[in-house]
Amino acid sequence: MDIVRIIFFAFGAAVCGFFALFAYTSLREQKRRAATVSAIILILFGLTWFGGYYYLEPSPAVMLYAAGTVALFVIFFFIPLGQRHPIETGIISGKVDERDVAFAREEYLPGSEKYDQYYAMRPENKAIDDKLRKLPELLAPGGRLYDPVQSEHIGHIFAVIEGMLDKVDGPVESDRKDIEPDEMTALIKNLAVDLGAVEVGVTELNPMYVYSHVGRGPEKWGAPIENKHKYAVAFTVEMDYWNVEAAPGLPITEESATSYLFGANISIALASYIRSLGWPARAHIAGSNYQIMMPPVAHDAGLGELGRMGYLISPELGARVRLGAVTTDIPLVTDHPIEFGVQDFCAKCLKCARNCPSGAIPRGGKTDVRGVMKWPLDIEKCLHYWRMIGTDCGLCMKVCPYSHPQALVHNLARAGIKRSAFARQISVWGDDLFYSRKGTYPDMNG
Ligand code: SF4
Ligand code: SF4
Repeated sequence: MDIVRIIFFAFGAAVCGFFALFAYTSLREQKRRAATVSAIILILFGLTWFGGYYYLEPSPAVMLYAAGTVALFVIFFFIPLGQRHPIETGIISGKVDERDVAFAREEYLPGSEKYDQYYAMRPENKAIDDKLRKLPELLAPGGRLYDPVQSEHIGHIFAVIEGMLDKVDGPVESDRKDIEPDEMTALIKNLAVDLGAVEVGVTELNPMYVYSHVGRGPEKWGAPIENKHKYAVAFTVEMDYWNVEAAPGLPITEESATSYLFGANISIALASYIRSLGWPARAHIAGSNYQIMMPPVAHDAGLGELGRMGYLISPELGARVRLGAVTTDIPLVTDHPIEFGVQDFCAKCLKCARNCPSGAIPRGGKTDVRGVMKWPLDIEKCLHYWRMIGTDCGLCMKVCPYSHPQALVHNLARAGIKRSAFARQISVWGDDLFYSRKGTYPDMNG
């Protein structure tokens, strides 16, 4: 067989092999549509390529042209092509008051001192918050997906986290150990990974990402937050793919709860270790004890980019992560923000916005939010839906193309998306073709 035929057959076999692998991976992931579409492409391509060879007996020039077209597609998919935009951050105008955070506002009960004080300060939020409070609380009877056993069980996990709030800070050992920053950074990162973190990054703490006043938790409500730590160690905890796939529903809420619990364990252990070395450190855990805004801090620490849906998107796990952090003064070596095409991909994709049942995710361009260009999430709309169903929703996380699990076919797509504008456009179309523009989930709005 001459070289042209070998090239022709090798390229045909590679494309067929890719779609066979795609079909197999999709079956394993229980994605029937993706498995069917890739099997159809495999059959059509195989019949055209190899059937055409036997019945049409193409000339060497035609075979080279066909193989060249495939090669060009692959090259354009993987070479650096087109612009990749970072998140645009200007001068950040003012700190966020934690008392304004929607999860804090949910806790101000009519008749309470906090309620009177808060709405005297922010009367513009009263009507929308009162409307939200008329709906059942999360995990409480009345929500459409409420289950007396499972909802109770998840609530208990959150209660365990609440019980850890007094462990986030503590006395600092007086005998201070001076360890080289690079050695200390490696020690802390390894410890975090040993404890269950997936990715760990360090950044200088931007004071603008420290909340201005306490809005939740055991500290005095309304007290100024005095955290002046120099560094933040941020980390991700993976959310299980199958539980995220079950969104919207109780499994993803249980997954959130357990991920927050893991995150709390990791950050409390890290902070305690750092304090034992003679340096101040404070853990920031869920269950109302954050002093810092986690997504931008994690972005600064190089853990990912902020996507259209407002979550951090990590290069490996996409949106299927929860975040934890420790702030400290121990000298560390910092990481840098990373970019891998998320801003440009999100500008084209819109899948989370199309699938958001509450319309909380914007479909248009970014807007300037306190000096950061981002897609602002309408958190009140999101929480309204959560309360209606009685649990976390997580559909945006589920349908996001970055949330596909680790597998060769998805990793190849991620590698292309990171480099090439061509790959980003093809992958947006491809995700719609293989997984549909609209996810499959029960309609809870009715
Ligand atoms: S969690 Fe659900 S309701 Fe909230 S933004 Fe995501 S898709 Fe929309
Ligand atoms: S679903 Fe699409 S638009 Fe939304 S965050 Fe994921 S990649 Fe971005």
